[in-house]
Amino acid sequence: MSERKVLNKYYPPDFDPSNIPRCKVARNKTFCVRLMAPCNMKCNTCGEYIAKAKKFNARKEDVDDENYLGLRIYRFYIRCPMCMAEIVFKTDPEHTDYLIEAGRRATSRRRSWRSGRPSGRRRPPRRRRSPTP
Ligand SMILES: [Zn+2]
Repeated sequence: MSERKVLNKYYPPDFDPSNIPRCKVARNKTFCVRLMAPCNMKCNTCGEYIAKAKKFNARKEDVDDENYLGLRIYRFYIRCPMCMAEIVFKTDPEHTDYLIEAGRRATSRRRSWRSGRPSGRRRPPRRRRSPTP
């Protein structure tokens, strides 16, 4: 059984690795990745709520003209599960978060979504009952 698990492969003595053709990949190629929604959000087109950590197949690309302290910034394109509208966001390493770009708005109360104020309605604080005499 163990012979099928060998990690090294046989290379014949006349093997020349320079004969292997190099594959040409575009510099900024988009990849398909599987990701989870980074926060609760609502589609701007159809109003569908998308829960945090819902899984999507996304297109991922580098943002060429931006970086943060030399770190690459990635942009992701996902589609709304109801209306197939495109939703775009990118990584924000400065705030260790994601930045909304198009197609949705965040419904969670996170400051770095740059809305200035939280988008969700806040429940008013509960009044404490005074103890009855
Ligand atoms: Zn939608």
